[in-house]
Amino acid sequence: MIYIALFGPPGAGKGTQAKKIIEKYNLEHISTGEIIRREIADKTELGKQAENIINKGHLLSDELVIALLEDTMSKSHNRKGFLLDGFPRNVKQAKDLDAMLAKRGASLNVLINIKAPSNCLMRRMLKRAGEEGRPDDTPEVIENRFKVYENQTQPVEEYYKCKGITLDVDGNKDVDSVFEQIVQLLDTFNF
Ligand code: AMP
Repeated sequence: MIYIALFGPPGAGKGTQAKKIIEKYNLEHISTGEIIRREIADKTELGKQAENIINKGHLLSDELVIALLEDTMSKSHNRKGFLLDGFPRNVKQAKDLDAMLAKRGASLNVLINIKAPSNCLMRRMLKRAGEEGRPDDTPEVIENRFKVYENQTQPVEEYYKCKGITLDVDGNKDVDSVFEQIVQLLDTFNF
């Protein structure tokens, strides 16, 4: 099984690239944000608890998100592997992921790190706000999500750098050029 995580700040284009990557490499896409949004739409107990947190741009508790991830993976029939998107969001989640994969006799193979300057990210996020109407895409919440990213998520990059599995990608390019970079890097592995 292949385990790849797609990493980068809000607006880096993770969701867009994820769709292309899973298609090319036959992986299952696990977006923790998407799973949580579905719970909210379905008005589940978890969704009700999550709504207020997600709408402020804060992170849900690690225990909750890890339980969701484990549950999704255990129900999957995909034999090839997983593309994690929006997870891990802090170093605790990264360590928990390592432990969870170790139990499956595996480890994270690659962290694709999409880099993009913050002015370009804000522009993209505001554009998406107009198109998708996500309640956490208002200017104040976007600002908060960037702060959360800087304070809690960014250190994950350092954590995996030490493990030597990070592939840096220039996200300040059009969708196809970013995807081309990702494919070139992933094709050096024999997935
Ligand atoms: P995303 O779709 O990845 O931008 O995530 C949207 C929101 O879902 C985040 O701002 C968080 O409130 C929540 N969320 C998604 N993934 C996680 C995670 N791994 N840990 C905690 N909260 C998360």
